[in-house]
Amino acid sequence: MSTVVTVLGATGSIGRSAADVLAAHPDRFRIEAVVGGRDVAGLAATAKALGARFAAVADPDAHDALREALAGSGIASGSGASAVMEAVARPADIVVAGIAGTAGVLPTHAAVRLGRVVALANKECLVCAGHAFMRDAAAAGATVLPVDSEHNAILQALGRHEAADVERMILTASGGPFRTWSRERIAAATLKEALAHPNWSMGAKVTIDSATLMNKGLELVEAHHLFGVTAEVLGVVVHAQSIVHGLVSFRDGSVVAGLASPDMRVPLAHCLGFPDRIATPVKRLDLAAIGRLDFEEPDLDRFPALRLAQTALAAGGGAPTILNAANEIAVEAFLEGRIGLFGIPELVERVVDRMHGRNDPSPPASIEEALSLDAEARSIARENLLAVNLLH
Ligand code: MG
Repeated sequence: MSTVVTVLGATGSIGRSAADVLAAHPDRFRIEAVVGGRDVAGLAATAKALGARFAAVADPDAHDALREALAGSGIASGSGASAVMEAVARPADIVVAGIAGTAGVLPTHAAVRLGRVVALANKECLVCAGHAFMRDAAAAGATVLPVDSEHNAILQALGRHEAADVERMILTASGGPFRTWSRERIAAATLKEALAHPNWSMGAKVTIDSATLMNKGLELVEAHHLFGVTAEVLGVVVHAQSIVHGLVSFRDGSVVAGLASPDMRVPLAHCLGFPDRIATPVKRLDLAAIGRLDFEEPDLDRFPALRLAQTALAAGGGAPTILNAANEIAVEAFLEGRIGLFGIPELVERVVDRMHGRNDPSPPASIEEALSLDAEARSIARENLLAVNLLH
């Protein structure tokens, strides 16, 4: 019997990689539903290529266009938030959670509450609402498998071992396009330079987060929730080649690392095949051709966003939720050319400082509470944008 799969965020970077893996195994997988944001043509093409039964576009005004694009295919369709939820509610064994940003939180939460195996690529479920998300997933018997390369490598390195066996969990960071740049040069970096990631091709938001190293900071928060380890256990090492993705150091001194070519189809195939292994057409790792693997300490002076994230993780409570929301507004402002690269950590620090203290020390108790704290942090970030704009 085939494994039934639904893909949320089917037209984005993760969704396209997932479709590639799924299409290579037509006998193993049957696609129930695909969900996209507003790219109707891309969504219809994916739905047809994968033979999905249902396609949902989040844009409520796009249903006519989607219906037209799917005409004659026999694929049912819908639009708006209710159609997205209908896609999630349809029967599936695995849900690929590839909707980027806060928009992905409610649909992905609905999938874990249905007890699905969730191949999780959305970061906000864990960074904004990790406590409630993982608690609800456990209560529903859902399995959360991380798609993010670092967490996927750590999951594989962990094997059957528990957090008690682990001394350190290390996430690698490529260092992004500014790894060797001076602070002065980074301060003057253009949008084009920030978007030129050396190893990974990803969406704009995560590419900017990789340039500031905020992405690695957010991944520390994710690892804390996924693996139930404290901030002290988690570390970051800069590894420019992006070949080693994550390492687990056990209490006997053994270190197990996860290596692969930097291609998201590898962790996606791991999640989609789990617990089996399925073939991918990905370039095989040739260590002799690569020649060397370099590692260095992250420079928190040139990449202050990483320090902010570490501080927020250690502070706990709502701090990571606030940090993530402020960062989204800051990155948006950078993408619009309204602030420089160092304006991003500057704005995030302002918002976290302003909201800290009156913030409950316990994390948001529900998804709704997390989203309302997120919304509040965004509006405070917007209010502070002008002041940061004047400084940078
Ligand atoms: Mg990553």
